[in-house]
Amino acid sequence: MSKRIGIYPGSFDPITLGHMDILKQSLSIADEVVVAIGTHAGKAAMFSFDERVEMVDNVLSDLGEGMKERVKVVSFDNLAVVAARSAGAGFMIRGLRDGTDLDYEMQLAGMNGAMAPEIGTVYLPASPSVRPITATLVRQIATLGGDVSKFVPQYVEKMLRNKFS
Ligand code: ADP
Repeated sequence: MSKRIGIYPGSFDPITLGHMDILKQSLSIADEVVVAIGTHAGKAAMFSFDERVEMVDNVLSDLGEGMKERVKVVSFDNLAVVAARSAGAGFMIRGLRDGTDLDYEMQLAGMNGAMAPEIGTVYLPASPSVRPITATLVRQIATLGGDVSKFVPQYVEKMLRNKFS
């Protein structure tokens, strides 16, 4: 049987415990997951691409034994479906937190499906404990000097502390 490769696209600015939850779940349905970090020029990021990769690389061991070997990290600055094709992925992985995510994600999956019918979308539900987490709020809280240790892996917390100390 051929390898089931999924692609998990996002900004990961920075990677949160919410992203980690989806990544972990996705490894139970895919043999390999490609974390695709978007570097779209139109979206101003707090962390550079290199910093975002560094954080993802450093937190993969938190996923548990034998997991990080099945994760690859790439960048993309074009359409997610194009990135999926070049990664050889058969499906996209997206996390759902609430109805707002669902409405948006249904539009995205519909349009992605029209552009690339061979690439499916798989939705994974956020685990209850990470459901409220968004990278945007993590950035805001960290900027205001708040404690983000409940929302991001330890390595990311350290990176945020260094940035704002
Ligand atoms: P955000 O929306 O937090 O800025 P991204 O653009 O990096 O994050 O999102 C990438 C994917 O991760 C999307 O499918 C998004 O729904 C999902 N995601 C982000 N945070 C969570 C979370 N707390 N729980 C589940 N999925 C999430």
